[in-house]
Amino acid sequence: MKEQNPILGHWTCPQGGKAEVYQTKKAGRHFYTRCACCGLMQGTGAALQQSIFDNAEFIAGISVVAPSNVVMDRSRVVEGEIAKPALDFDPSEPVQGEEVEAAPEKSKFNYLVPLGAFLAAGAAALWMH
Ligand SMILES: [Zn+2]
Repeated sequence: MKEQNPILGHWTCPQGGKAEVYQTKKAGRHFYTRCACCGLMQGTGAALQQSIFDNAEFIAGISVVAPSNVVMDRSRVVEGEIAKPALDFDPSEPVQGEEVEAAPEKSKFNYLVPLGAFLAAGAAALWMH
């Protein structure tokens, strides 16, 4: 039996529904939401994460970690108990038993592939000189 992440609060989803907000314990500490209209949303894009972070109604006193790609808004730090140790990305960290239903770590690949392509293009450009 996998441990469920606690619900952190609620967020109005793009469909206008009331989504429950959760947060993965994995590197990046991204939020994910669940609502009746959209189901499970696990997008890790900065815009979505920022929107959830900025607009969600977090449960009073709950501990929320800002996801790695979210810009902190000081006003929210004052109002809540939001900590900023989000950069806990440690590849050597043992994988914990936590899994968000079939969530591949897409964000890593989205980041690494364009970077690799960029480096390859740069190397090619150098050779052509
Ligand atoms: Zn929805």
